[in-house]
Amino acid sequence: MGEQQGPGSHRAQKDTDRHLGRRALIIGGAAAAVGSAALARDELGSLWWRVPGVEKDRTDGEVDFRGAQWVAASSANRRRADRPDDYRIDRVVIHVAQGSYATVLKVFRDPGHQAASHYVVRKDGHIAQMIRELDVAFHAGNRAYNERSVGIEHEGFVDRASSFTDAMYRASARLTAAICTRYDIPVDREHIIGHVEVPGTDHTDPGPHWDWDRYIRLVREARTASA
Ligand SMILES: [Zn+2]
Repeated sequence: MGEQQGPGSHRAQKDTDRHLGRRALIIGGAAAAVGSAALARDELGSLWWRVPGVEKDRTDGEVDFRGAQWVAASSANRRRADRPDDYRIDRVVIHVAQGSYATVLKVFRDPGHQAASHYVVRKDGHIAQMIRELDVAFHAGNRAYNERSVGIEHEGFVDRASSFTDAMYRASARLTAAICTRYDIPVDREHIIGHVEVPGTDHTDPGPHWDWDRYIRLVREARTASA
């Protein structure tokens, strides 16, 4: 589960400064040097959102993974961002919730929880998206890892092997494969990690019953199938 940000949470909310990616700065600089009038209209169309201070379009209810159901988390449980342009995304963090799907949705919608992940996967493979991948979700308990990752929560309990169904593994693997394709993330255990592997965490999820070999194999298969 995502964890409380604790006493540092007010710091996270005040953190509105932008860490612009190198690419955005270079392209923004180039656009300024050339002068916007000199850019062809179609070039502007593909570049405007890279210019610092201009965010990508957002549509209410839009999801990043086809088939996911949009269920908005509380805005207190995330920070608005413009990834991957302000923060590069190079990790997927796997969580197990210590609770049911309904419980997870409830707490992620609660502004007092101060934590939420981008996605929640149910036992039957149904997926809710609660935070856009553009935004930083408070799920890893580590600011830098929140900024660089997409977090996937799974309903169930770390000490119950029966929590992890075939449908859940397959749906989650398809989701992770799509994320890895979108941001060009290698499909391996260096880049697809458990919450337990986030530096500084005291969380143990996804726990000993999570079958990493099976999961990585399924992610690779899903990536190949969609290529
Ligand atoms: Zn977790």
